Amino acid sequence: MSDCLSCLSNNGKKRISPAATIYEGKYWLVEHVNPTGLLGWVVIVLKRHSEKLHELARDEWHELSELNFRLTRALHNFLQSEKEYSCCFAEMEGFRHIHFLVIPKTGKFNKENTGSKVFNYLRVPESEALSKEEIIDFCKLLSKEMNTKWE
Ligand SMILES: [Zn+2]
Repeated sequence: MSDCLSCLSNNGKKRISPAATIYEGKYWLVEHVNPTGLLGWVVIVLKRHSEKLHELARDEWHELSELNFRLTRALHNFLQSEKEYSCCFAEMEGFRHIHFLVIPKTGKFNKENTGSKVFNYLRVPESEALSKEEIIDFCKLLSKEMNTKWE
């Protein structure tokens, strides 16, 4: 869809992350969100355009499950996250395309940004946003981990 920002990012016409795709599965892509003040906030984006979870095929759910498994482990290992959030709303204008957010609750968290208030980390002033280099470096690490053989 031409007005879908996720499709534009998926097909490379207007990428959201400054880094390369972290992982490409058969049905999903893993990307780092941008801009954000929180390192490790990743998104699992459906490769095809769909706006409704009830339209997902069983095979798409299966791959999504494996990606959540790998990502939450990898984020914990790299960032020592206390726990991880995983959610899907897909309601914002331009972002109705199905995407799951995987958010590491790291030592950087404060009470004001816990739970559903975590979205504050997407509304940070430019001075508090991660630099492109920080995102690119972290994505390289995570990509290597995601593409290794998992048992
Ligand atoms: Zn789309």
